[in-house]
Amino acid sequence: MATIDGLPPLREVIRAHDLSAKKQLGQNFLLDLNLTAKIARAAGDLSGSDVLEVGPGPGGLTRGLLAEGARRVLAIEKDARCLPALAEIAAACPGRLEVINADALTLDARAHLTPPIRIVANLPYNVGTELLVGWLTPAEWPPFWQSLTLMFQKEVAERIVAKPGSKAYGRLALLAQWRCDAKIVMILPPEAFTPAPKVHSAVVHLTALPAPRFPADAAILSRVTAAAFNQRRKMLRSALKGIAPDIEARLLAAGIEPTARAEEIPLEGFCALARELA
Ligand code: SAM
Repeated sequence: MATIDGLPPLREVIRAHDLSAKKQLGQNFLLDLNLTAKIARAAGDLSGSDVLEVGPGPGGLTRGLLAEGARRVLAIEKDARCLPALAEIAAACPGRLEVINADALTLDARAHLTPPIRIVANLPYNVGTELLVGWLTPAEWPPFWQSLTLMFQKEVAERIVAKPGSKAYGRLALLAQWRCDAKIVMILPPEAFTPAPKVHSAVVHLTALPAPRFPADAAILSRVTAAAFNQRRKMLRSALKGIAPDIEARLLAAGIEPTARAEEIPLEGFCALARELA
């Protein structure tokens, strides 16, 4: 039976194109089109935006994005086996879907997109964090995208939205929250995917702020947080010893107790320290 978008159900698509999931490509597919439409809605109003989707696979989320009114979708897929299935979606939505067979880690997709741009993806787990860090660390801010709506393993999603004092709090939380609003908008059990992964997943929605929440130099902030969290159990005066010879004085000038540990310090404190060290 055809679905609401007139295309065959995803199980049929997978059978017809012999798309058995490959673990090394992080292939855990979403086959419920109600769920993919819900993820697309979590990305906000798509009607005036180009959407960059990484890893469309058989196209469940792609169909959700198109059904929810995305102006245009650019989908980057590494697995050439998926291209015929995606071509069927492109034919059903003339001029609205472009598919590029490439590795999203190396392709610069910006030339293929017209602002405003939103990024929405059920990411391959093995490259998800690397892609996120790339999107969060452009040469200039604001970035080329307005929002990111991304599926991660739940544990990674919790690290992105973590607050000081929690175990999950660390570099990823600081990097994300320095220049974005970040929240978990959906939690999915393993059975939502085919094949089912071992862990729960979560969708995180990040909106780019027009400017950083607190002023700081990105490279210094990155160096300081790397050193602080590489030895998160140590007091900052020893964890940051290698950063500056007078680190105790610098910490105090930034309003931070030298005996405090990295996980107690809020974003504002790390930004103040980065300014002291500039
Ligand atoms: N979006 C589909 C869905 O929700 O059912 C598939 C999601 S699956 C978790 C991840 C997809 O990313 C797979 O189709 C896989 O082939 C693709 N992929 C893996 N590594 C990639 C890379 N480096 N660049 C682009 N696509 C990649």
